[in-house]
Amino acid sequence: MAEQAKTGQEVRGLGSTIWAGIAGRCPVCGRGKLFQGYLQIAPACNLCGLDYGAADAGDGPAVFVILITGIVVVGAALIVEIVYAPPYWLHALIWGPLAILLPVLLLRPFKGVLVALQFRHKAAEGRLASE
Ligand SMILES: [Zn+2]
Repeated sequence: MAEQAKTGQEVRGLGSTIWAGIAGRCPVCGRGKLFQGYLQIAPACNLCGLDYGAADAGDGPAVFVILITGIVVVGAALIVEIVYAPPYWLHALIWGPLAILLPVLLLRPFKGVLVALQFRHKAAEGRLASE
């Protein structure tokens, strides 16, 4: 269900916001481009004009991607070792490229989702109330 934010921009539902982030689309209109290039956030939405200047996911996406990649690759390597006990060169052949490929595939969607959620929840740096 959509609601009106104080800024007058319509706030999308949580599912729509997450899908817009995964697809690399604008968190407000859901159609404009969020990225210019692979991980660079565009200055503004090319369709609705939303200023992405406040968007800063920081190290958040990298942390999630590192944790997920570590769990998947190490977990799968342990299971394969226990069940099949292949030679070590085969482990290196399988898990080495996967440990590189998985972060490359996951980093952009994670960054998109975190930036989209940042806009949805109007997250910003903390400020003192007296300022
Ligand atoms: Zn937009």
